[in-house]
Amino acid sequence: MEHQQVTRLNEHILYLPANHETDRPILAAISGSNRTLLLDAGNSFAHASLFLKELSAYDLPRMEMVALTHWHWDHIFGLAGMNLPSISHVLTKHEMEKLADLEWTDAALDQRVQDGTEISFCAEMIKKEFPGSLRNGISITLPTLVFEDKLEIDLGNVTCILQHVGGDHAHDSTVLYVNEAKTLFLGDCLAPDIYARQRNYSPDAFLALLEKIDGFDADTYVESHGVPMPKSQFQQEMNEMKLMAQAVTLHRGDRDTILAELSGSWNRQWSPTDDVLLGYFLNGYDRTD
Ligand SMILES: [Zn+2]
Repeated sequence: MEHQQVTRLNEHILYLPANHETDRPILAAISGSNRTLLLDAGNSFAHASLFLKELSAYDLPRMEMVALTHWHWDHIFGLAGMNLPSISHVLTKHEMEKLADLEWTDAALDQRVQDGTEISFCAEMIKKEFPGSLRNGISITLPTLVFEDKLEIDLGNVTCILQHVGGDHAHDSTVLYVNEAKTLFLGDCLAPDIYARQRNYSPDAFLALLEKIDGFDADTYVESHGVPMPKSQFQQEMNEMKLMAQAVTLHRGDRDTILAELSGSWNRQWSPTDDVLLGYFLNGYDRTD
């Protein structure tokens, strides 16, 4: 696997970039003057260990906690390897409890994909991250502390806010705002629902989620499987998705009318990615229609 290195995002934050080979999300370390908070535990013991090893080259205040953005395997399988207390939303813990008794053999994964309780993308990535007998080592460590709605963590002159936002991707999705760094970690909350038969966004849920995100005064936005983005780029992307969501609702999922309207407000060439995203909104509209 391509070797990845911890990178400095700003004065208070270091992060290990995402790796798409086995769907490893961004892991972050946020430090104040007294303590360090880690964000997400990684998709395996190996992922968590790589992050901790990389961090050991820095002279950071004591690592005291790991916060989780949501229950999906790629964000939590590394928790056992962190050996730290963890914090999550109460729904994240509920979902993780459901994972605790599952088996992760090829046969068990394939069966769950067939039953529709797992998706082939995650099953393939789990097989790739844990080749062969390595998978016997998967153990689900449950969060130490849970919160509802919102939690503030004082790291010493740096304050983090964990806030539950939910959304289509995972109902437990939580964002982390680092106040002094004006940085908002979004987890996967802006991703579509990937567990449905067809990937989808509910236009109404997406617009409600955007409003919650708008409540944070951030300059830098970090999506777990992307690269950190400045405000201008994030706003441009979100504005386009907002236009899509609004047009899908206004024109009741009528693709041709929606495309005609959007082509008038698009300030750039309509792209294949736009087509995919619009498709997700149309799938989501059909589900709620
Ligand atoms: Zn996810």
